[in-house]
Amino acid sequence: MVAAYNPYDNVLRVVDNAARILGYQPGEYEAIKYPERELQVSIPVQMHDGSVKVFEGYRIQHSTSRGPAKGGIRYHWNVNKDEVRALAAWMTFKCAVVNIPYGGAKGGVVVDPEKLTSEELRHLTRRFTAMILPIIGPDKDIPAPDVGTNPEIMGWIMDTYSMMRGHCVPGVVTGKPVQIGGAPGRKEATGRGVVITTGNILAKHGMDIADATFAIQGMGNVGGTAARLLHERNARILGVGDVSGAVFNPDGLDITAIMAHLGEGKLLESHCAEGVRHITNGELLGLDVSVLIPAALENQINESNVGDIKTKFIVEGANGPTTVEADAQLEKMGVVVVPDILANAGGVVVSYFEWVQNIQSMSWTEADNNAKLTEIMNRSFNDVWDISHEKGVSLRTGAYLIAVKRVVEAKKNRGIWP
Ligand code: GLU
Repeated sequence: MVAAYNPYDNVLRVVDNAARILGYQPGEYEAIKYPERELQVSIPVQMHDGSVKVFEGYRIQHSTSRGPAKGGIRYHWNVNKDEVRALAAWMTFKCAVVNIPYGGAKGGVVVDPEKLTSEELRHLTRRFTAMILPIIGPDKDIPAPDVGTNPEIMGWIMDTYSMMRGHCVPGVVTGKPVQIGGAPGRKEATGRGVVITTGNILAKHGMDIADATFAIQGMGNVGGTAARLLHERNARILGVGDVSGAVFNPDGLDITAIMAHLGEGKLLESHCAEGVRHITNGELLGLDVSVLIPAALENQINESNVGDIKTKFIVEGANGPTTVEADAQLEKMGVVVVPDILANAGGVVVSYFEWVQNIQSMSWTEADNNAKLTEIMNRSFNDVWDISHEKGVSLRTGAYLIAVKRVVEAKKNRGIWP
């Protein structure tokens, strides 16, 4: 029997490899292999029919060496402890690679939010917030949106925390609605960062977004925003997919029409237009396009389908979409992979701006947020590109060389207490 895939093992293998190249002795980086703190909670919710359901939830802080823990909260039926651990560790390295002063954390609740009424979702969120309250806070651990959560839910977290503290604490969570201290542009920031990074990797190969063709897996906040921004820059997007399947048009999809369809709460399976063919998720990943953007969940490009990949570039909008085995295979195939911790860091970068503004009671414009985001994404991309070329390693290994070094050196400078 094949051992169950454990995304946290994926993280450890990548970290070990980077630490070895950096010349660290095992003892020097041992501590960063373990999450600092893990909280598991059982969340009772009174459902609208009067019954009580108990949901399993987590908040895991991987590291606080470089600053308060930071990372989203995921609502998905497939959430489990090892996934949340991996997602928390990726946050540590993501914040390190873009050099913002945070550690990493992640939260998750095992729930299909689509199956809950808005009131049930609010009760679940408030109770979960109350249960993780002892370990979160603007100077401790700052949640944000992730798969299955959104600004409205962040607003409920902010309100619950504030009510329990007895005063307004906007800096406890990022990705809030702009009316209560959310940063304008935060919602689009991950997708925007993916597009900035795509432009950067193409430019290094003498190409432009407008000359390239694309396939995008996932039309949620990240994939949907990336599709819209790429479309605005005259990219030809040949295929996009969601949970229901994928659509393909060799001449390029009408992204505006697709976004309008999805905006009505419909899925791609019911999208029909001239020249559009319905294909499977597997066929989407195997499309012969210049750039593939996986923007859904982990483990999508794995040993079973890596041989089908035909694209030249993969820009990882999702966290952990490529397994270690598939990554090694892609490198042999000459596919250039821009890793998740760099490519999708735009969200947490603008979360950082939001938090900075909240704790100073300031507010910047969307243009300010976008300009500073662009600056950080460009600088981080160039840092990763340069070290990868200097050391002759993949962009993923290059990103981890920078990130692991920053985390280990922070730990060394602090020393081990007591
Ligand atoms: N959930 C997002 C991520 O995976 C954003 C986290 C944040 O803004 O704190 O990067």
